[in-house]
Amino acid sequence: MQTWQQLDQAYIMSTVSRYPIAIGKAEGNYLYDTEGKRYLDLFTGLAVNTLGHSHPRILEALEEQGRRFLHISNLFLNPPAIRLAERLVKHTFGQGKVYFSNSGAEATEAAVKLVHKWIQREQHGRQGIVVLKNSFHGRTLGALRLTRQPGVYQDFPQPDFPVFEVEPNQIDSLMEVCRTHRPAAILVEPILGAGGVVSLERAYLETIEQLCKEEQMLFLVDEIQTGIGRTGKLFAYQHFALSPDVILFAKGIGGGLPLGGLIASAHVADLFQPGDHGTTFAPSPLSAALGNAVLDVLLEDGLLEQGRQVADALWEELHRLQQAHPRVFKGVDGQGMMLGIRTHLSAEHVKRLQSELLEAGILVNVTAKTVVRLLPPLTLTRAEVTFFIETLERLITQMEPAWEVN
Ligand SMILES: *Cc1c(COP(=O)(O)O)cnc(C)c1O
Repeated sequence: MQTWQQLDQAYIMSTVSRYPIAIGKAEGNYLYDTEGKRYLDLFTGLAVNTLGHSHPRILEALEEQGRRFLHISNLFLNPPAIRLAERLVKHTFGQGKVYFSNSGAEATEAAVKLVHKWIQREQHGRQGIVVLKNSFHGRTLGALRLTRQPGVYQDFPQPDFPVFEVEPNQIDSLMEVCRTHRPAAILVEPILGAGGVVSLERAYLETIEQLCKEEQMLFLVDEIQTGIGRTGKLFAYQHFALSPDVILFAKGIGGGLPLGGLIASAHVADLFQPGDHGTTFAPSPLSAALGNAVLDVLLEDGLLEQGRQVADALWEELHRLQQAHPRVFKGVDGQGMMLGIRTHLSAEHVKRLQSELLEAGILVNVTAKTVVRLLPPLTLTRAEVTFFIETLERLITQMEPAWEVN
């Protein structure tokens, strides 16, 4: 009989290199493979399962909405989606409107079209979008134009709307580009996710905000990975005194089901008119019902606060490890439950560490080749933090002598 891995290789296109484990079940903060082996899930399907797996409130919403209706089309009033949109607006701009999509890339596509509708309305001769080097905004062709990772975009056609790439956290070059090219908008991830978990500095974010105000540009934040409680606030920009014009969201919002979109503040909320944009499936009533359950648990049941506290404990332990093993650890970047552990190790050694952790029953992700990325559920417990830290320390102590540190 063929293994799941062999069948996968035979029948599913190989667009990523997969872990060699077939998942049979997921519960709480753990995944179980088809043989029953348990893994602590420290990347939650890449920032999707923010409440862990099979959370009772998610299952309740799934059953309740599942019995009512799964799909109706966006031609009807959709109560779960309307309620979710109202809550997203109230917890961000106060006034504004939501456009729903099925995924993050589609949220970016909608943002590109919204910026172009805005350019048409303003008639101020500005055009193009400023994005950061190593940014990730999705893989469909429009979104890919804004994704500035050569390995991701280089083999594909680039649509010809103007995009200006700048180095993250370099204020001078940002100002230079804005002065020279007169762009219409700036789009950033508050913490670059796929780009290696790189936080934007407060001064840099404030400069973006100020430039956008002075020069009448739109300020868009891609909170697809940083949003929905991941960094300790509902959205990461809320750690600062910022007021962006548009917020992109996806990943965590659907509680495990596909859902994304953007929140536009009042002055850009009516740019799309009937016929301008849309898709068959969004907003999925089922995804939206789960979205409401996610917000209930984060905002009303106190999971946002609980996640912040456990994240603090995790950060503290990682800082201790860094001091104890400076030959291995360079530092930690990110915020809350979004962490990038930087190492002095080669890409090959980081891969080895990842598979040793897998063997020990812990799932972590590696991004930008040498950064161990953690995107734990906000339901992570202190005992699980201890288990992870002890395992990590044991493995690096065993492996350390053999490593060629660079
Ligand atoms: C994952 C991600 C996207 C793309 O979302 P998909 O749902 O995979 O299309 C866009 N931006 C950021 C910051 C992301 O992390």
